[in-house]
Amino acid sequence: MNPSHSPRAGAGFTAPAKKQLGQHFLADAHYVEKIVLAVNPRPGDRLVEIGPGQGAITFPLLRRHPQLTVIEFDRDLISPLTAAAAPLGELTIVHRDVLQVDFTELAGGSPIRLVGNLPYNISSPILFHALEHAAAISDMTFMLQKEVVDRMAAGPGSKVYGRLSVMLQAWCQVTSLFVVPPGAFRPPPKVDSAVVRLVPRDPATVGIADPQHFAHLVKAAFGQRRKTLRNALNGIVDEAGFAATGVRSDARAEQLEVADFIALANATATTA
Ligand code: SAM
Repeated sequence: MNPSHSPRAGAGFTAPAKKQLGQHFLADAHYVEKIVLAVNPRPGDRLVEIGPGQGAITFPLLRRHPQLTVIEFDRDLISPLTAAAAPLGELTIVHRDVLQVDFTELAGGSPIRLVGNLPYNISSPILFHALEHAAAISDMTFMLQKEVVDRMAAGPGSKVYGRLSVMLQAWCQVTSLFVVPPGAFRPPPKVDSAVVRLVPRDPATVGIADPQHFAHLVKAAFGQRRKTLRNALNGIVDEAGFAATGVRSDARAEQLEVADFIALANATATTA
């Protein structure tokens, strides 16, 4: 379909896009519908959208689900969002930087479902922030740059397998869903986008003894990805640690399974 002839998404208002806030508004109803179908809101779900913008996803969600919380940093969007949502349902707007929002507190004991066409300039920090609150999140349906989604879902041996892949896959099931071309947005970004689903694993089954140590080890391993693990993890894992886990010290980080990183971290964690 020629994107310029695609139906416009049902935004209730328009506002000039702010580049510094990563504003690329979804303007193609076909992709809005695909995202809403991917979210598939069910009665009782507690939906939280990050970055509602002009409401391209917000209003279709609100038409299917009577209550929605959104987190938006741009103060110019708050009152138009409030006005356009009023006839549709109950929209709660959290006017804050999403990186300052405590998702665990927001959930208040009843897990939330996160949705969002994320501001691409801070998409990785948002993912790491969400990981810190994984126990309060039942799932996440996010749109990001396709290149980032490829890294999130990559496996060992792939050129794009790295820290992001291991950190996310250790804590979540990661599924790449579909690609969205630049022409679906106003203004169009320079690159393809993709929608991904993340489902946090039960923390009890993840089996990471010390999450901070695990994060430190994964960062060090990929910080020097061309080096052998013996060198990249010098000072973190000694030969006894490699021997205890069966991971070869002459391997490189990109060859290891997520479970190998967990084993290495657990064998060397002081709290293990
Ligand atoms: N959901 C809308 C859509 O699909 O058209 C807008 C998506 S746009 C890519 C990203 C949105 O995130 C914008 O509305 C932007 O203002 C908002 N945003 C950017 N930085 C933010 C932050 N730190 N906290 C919360 N929202 C932010």
